[in-house]
Amino acid sequence: MYKSGIVKKYKFLLFLLFSTLLCGCNEPKTVNGIYFDTFISITAYDNTSQEVLDNCINMCSDYELVFSKTNPSSELYAINSRDNSINISSTPGEFCAIISEDLYSLIEYSLSLANNTNLAFNPALGQVISLWDYKSENPVIPSDYTVKESLLHTNINSIHLDKDTKTITITDPALQIDLGGIAKGYVSDKLKNYLIESGTKNAIISLAGNIYCIGDKYGQKYNVGIQKPFSDKKESLLTLSVYDTSVVTSGVYERYFKSNGIIYHHIIDPHSGYPSTSDLISVTIICNNSTQADALSTAILVMGKEKGIEYLDSLENVSAILIDSSNNIIKVGDFFN
Ligand code: AMP
Ligand code: MG
Repeated sequence: MYKSGIVKKYKFLLFLLFSTLLCGCNEPKTVNGIYFDTFISITAYDNTSQEVLDNCINMCSDYELVFSKTNPSSELYAINSRDNSINISSTPGEFCAIISEDLYSLIEYSLSLANNTNLAFNPALGQVISLWDYKSENPVIPSDYTVKESLLHTNINSIHLDKDTKTITITDPALQIDLGGIAKGYVSDKLKNYLIESGTKNAIISLAGNIYCIGDKYGQKYNVGIQKPFSDKKESLLTLSVYDTSVVTSGVYERYFKSNGIIYHHIIDPHSGYPSTSDLISVTIICNNSTQADALSTAILVMGKEKGIEYLDSLENVSAILIDSSNNIIKVGDFFN
């Protein structure tokens, strides 16, 4: 029994060795780590060096120190906590700071998406998002009063950006910025750009539900599974064959708690302050811009099927897979034509 196990193992290793030699393929190389509160991995299928892959991990670590809402060492944390040492405003109640290029451009893009999605995506939702604690062992449902009070501090017009001075001014002392619905997409785009500039032709970047496929995998398209909502992680509802694109999924099953049979998940309807109750439970966006895909997956989920499809139809080069609460699959966009 044991012996035949070893023989099988050697046969398998020999098979791997021969198939690699025959196709002249490089062995895949993977790096991974935990950043942005999630497991990330980058796998190259070509001759990308270990150094380049390690640099990708260093980039994740650096970006966490820009965009994290919870890491006390991050730039965003300093802004949300109105760190006096960087405040250059002398107006009481107002905060103004010079911010990094990355933070500036992601906040700027988030605000434009907030406007374009009728606030379905709202980067100023931080106060409300903090009320919902999915990590706690005994999560507490916030009172209606607290939710309504926090909603008063989510007005994007309280955030002002100045291109010339690269400053952010926040006029509402209680407003909190949350980039959790878009930062992973931004980082994927940056990693993709870095890898391509470094000569990488075939690699897959995976930051939880954010996937970026560079080129193909040994001449074949990548297979990206779309998870069946609320099922075991490995169960896919369908598989997409893709190359050279980003595939980003937002699903209500990714982070939630249950109380009295009701699911309280992590995608908040900015108009109510409560977890979205739209008819969609999972949205996958397929497009080349991962930052856009990330924000859209969150926004479309909040918008729901009808408004979401209408909005998607107005966009170019964006396709989507929507899953409703009965697990119906709706395919939108040119990718499927
Ligand atoms: P995603 O998994 O990309 O849909 O992002 C979910 C994360 O985005 C949440 O954990 C929050 O940090 C943030 N978020 C939740 N609801 C919204 C919203 N309506 N607009 C912007 N960000 C949101
Ligand atoms: Mg998102």
